[in-house]
Amino acid sequence: MQAHSLYLHIPFCHHRCSYCDFNTYSGMESLIPDYVRGLCQEIRYIARSSPHKIPIQTIFFGGGTPSILPIGEIERIFSAIEREFELIEGLEISLEANPGRLSVEYLKSLRDFGVNRISLGMQSANPQDLLLLERQHDFQMVVSAVRMLRKAGIDNLNLDLIYGLPYQSLDSWQRTLDSGISLKPDHLSLYALTIESGTPMGSWVKKGLLSEPDADIAADMYEYAGARLATQGYELYEISNWARRDSGGQLMTCEHNLQYWRNLPYLGCGAGAHGFAGGRRTENELNPQKYVQALADSVEASSRDKYKFPQNPALKNSTVITRDREMKETMLMGLRLTKEGVARAPFRDRFGVDLKDEYKAEIEPLIKSGLLVWDHSEGGRLRLTHRGYLLGNQVFMQFV
Ligand code: SF4
Repeated sequence: MQAHSLYLHIPFCHHRCSYCDFNTYSGMESLIPDYVRGLCQEIRYIARSSPHKIPIQTIFFGGGTPSILPIGEIERIFSAIEREFELIEGLEISLEANPGRLSVEYLKSLRDFGVNRISLGMQSANPQDLLLLERQHDFQMVVSAVRMLRKAGIDNLNLDLIYGLPYQSLDSWQRTLDSGISLKPDHLSLYALTIESGTPMGSWVKKGLLSEPDADIAADMYEYAGARLATQGYELYEISNWARRDSGGQLMTCEHNLQYWRNLPYLGCGAGAHGFAGGRRTENELNPQKYVQALADSVEASSRDKYKFPQNPALKNSTVITRDREMKETMLMGLRLTKEGVARAPFRDRFGVDLKDEYKAEIEPLIKSGLLVWDHSEGGRLRLTHRGYLLGNQVFMQFV
């Protein structure tokens, strides 16, 4: 059976940040034990609905704030995973954490369960930015979290940073970026702030209390970051993601996210989680209480007969992905990979057609406008140009 990735959604946070529109809740921590029970049930359902033991090559605890889980709950999740799936040796296990509430003991326990990559939400080094974003930490807490991680023996570290904030100057962004670099992360994810309606920040903008981010300044910040990170040994491999090379020369990419960008199968467990497996895109019940209830109400004994892989009682939607749609999605996501792009040979092996012929009408104008280019290495691959990184949406639209 093809290797899958496994995403686990933990929808709890100590406080909701002003810009966040993820499926996460504060003040719902009392639900954690039931939620974890539901998550373990879902893992069992999915695993047992498959005729074969599913090989898992990456696991990603995302959220929300997965590091809010007490270590005993994390242990329960790992027991279910180990019992139900075949874990591929050397698998990457990432966990998102917020600085400020970590301890060396907690991180050591995570490492003992196999967690080998931590993604820290640093966002900014500037106290005013952090205040605006309503983050619950300052930069010093990030520094001590990184120290704790190293002490606990977790070597692979990602930092998330946000740019293009209202009132953020280029100068301030440069200082944030340099503060991040000074912590020697192995990987950096840089996101431009988008103002989402329904968030406190969205309502501040709507009421005219806050100005919209300036897209031109954000573009300058992105350009600056690319140039600065290149001088520090970080290589851009996806529009928003940079990695450095390890001592063996290997680029320390996020293997889990590569699975998404390569449009390969993954299981999504937890409230609102999405998956792509068994030729279907799946979407779980969004509300954590309803999610827990749906799993508690189900009769597990008949799971094998009742549910066809990858369905389970927590599922809200499931869509069969046609070959045509899968090809388009492969283009859409693969072109985010700035070096790898979409290679012709594997595309032909997967779909039986040459992408050059299949998407001639879409590709040629984009090449003419300088957004796409053929890289003739290894049988040919189509990728974005440098200009295309900033105008990626214009490219992706062509394949929607
Ligand atoms: S910590 Fe992350 S997931 Fe939680 S509210 Fe803030 S941005 Fe959203």
